[in-house]
Amino acid sequence: MNTVTVIGASLAGLHTARALRSQGFDGRLVIVGDEHHRPYDRPPLSKGFLTGATDQSQLALADAEEIADLDAEWRLGSRAAGLDTGTRSVRIAGAAPLVTDGLVIATGATPRQLPGPARAGVHTLRTLDDAQALRADLARGPARVVVIGGGFIGAEVASSCAALGHEVTVVEAAPLPLVPQLGDAMARICAALHAEHGVTLLTGTGVAGLCAEGATDRVTAVDLADGSRLPADVVVVGIGVRPRTDWLEGSGLPLDDGVCCDAGCVTPVPAIVAVGDVARVDGCRAEHWTSATEQAAVAARNLLANATVATHRSLPYFWSDQYGVRIQFAGHRLPTDTPRLIEGSPDDRSFLAAYERDGRTTAVLALNRPRPFMRLRRELAREVAEKCPLSPSL
Ligand code: FAD
Ligand code: NAP
Repeated sequence: MNTVTVIGASLAGLHTARALRSQGFDGRLVIVGDEHHRPYDRPPLSKGFLTGATDQSQLALADAEEIADLDAEWRLGSRAAGLDTGTRSVRIAGAAPLVTDGLVIATGATPRQLPGPARAGVHTLRTLDDAQALRADLARGPARVVVIGGGFIGAEVASSCAALGHEVTVVEAAPLPLVPQLGDAMARICAALHAEHGVTLLTGTGVAGLCAEGATDRVTAVDLADGSRLPADVVVVGIGVRPRTDWLEGSGLPLDDGVCCDAGCVTPVPAIVAVGDVARVDGCRAEHWTSATEQAAVAARNLLANATVATHRSLPYFWSDQYGVRIQFAGHRLPTDTPRLIEGSPDDRSFLAAYERDGRTTAVLALNRPRPFMRLRRELAREVAEKCPLSPSL
């Protein structure tokens, strides 16, 4: 393989590029990204970067030396607009097509938008540019912030805005946020953090629309489905994401809520792999940092082997920082699994719990207990690795 092209210059793309080099690929490596920034880390955007505790220089995923070592051709500010799998060429908006031997699809995901016209003061949060715009808006002075969606973005942004002294309301469509991830009992404990920090959480409430009264198009209120109106100076919409597969429509690659690939991140088209938030790996699409980095090594190996010689079946893991509490979760939880407290106390917002099925631990959750959590996570990961020897282990 002479040339490998990576589309998506972020976490999954960078990690796959690194893995290709560390696994011996010494050909031409092209990295195309539609953002103008070199790869940076997204998790701080809703946390320390929003509060000002983290500055832009601390976000870089690779320093100058690491970038040089990668020996890649960077095409930043370039958008892939189409793919011809027959000629293995990527159409680049406003530039000549890129013909490649191997292709890594790492185009991530983009926020879902509320219907209706765009309004000043209304934000989504995915990119550094989004975070800078939100930060600038919040710096205008004390604001009534309405956060739509009580998932990860919603909870973390609410926490950061509250820490900055803003008046915050979270509007969540479901009866309780984070239930799909944590189950009812544990989600209830996390949801209680909002009220404890002066944030109002409205659940079971849909949004009817955004209102802009007066001469400007700036948002002034959020209209809820129950007929009530919430005054708002700033609105943050965190209602989930959709994978960025638009540029692959009509390419012949199977698309179904992501790029469909096997457990080794390999698509049915030879020499094309998909990684990170855009990849539907063996029927599942993860939207977490650790999955993107773990898949990268597997995808690189399979791309170089031109076959599925490694698979990604490691233990799903995510963390979230809200109101000074680190929430960590790992495992494969089913809604019927029962949580059991192992140590600490939910009242103190510091505990470790295991989810159990037929007496067996399936997943583990901790609030502010990183060390014991890590121990249990490793044990669970070892069990997964033993069942599936081709998977990477922790
Ligand atoms: P992305 O990071 O989305 O990168 C995809 C890149 O491809 C982007 O730069 C995009 O602009 C580019 N691109 C897309 N289409 C094209 C195209 N056609 N041509 C060229 N380039 C293109 N996960 C956790 O586990 N813990 C956390 O605490 C956490 N916090 C988060 C906080 C925020 C604010 C956000 C947004 C995400 C957070 N995540 C967290 C999720 C984590 O950041 C993602 O899982 C991770 O970024 C996925 O990496 P990726 O490279 O697959 O996709
Ligand atoms: P998310 O975690 O899917 O949460 C979206 C939430 O919004 C869900 O609770 C959803 O409820 C609710 N919702 C959907 N439509 C709504 C509406 N019209 N009105 C009110 N609520 C609505 O997505 P996200 O919080 O937007 O995060 C985006 C991405 O960033 C995800 O990939 C996430 O994993 C990632 N992220 C991760 C972290 C982390 O891991 N710590 C932190 C930040 C961001 P239903 O479930 O009922 O639809």
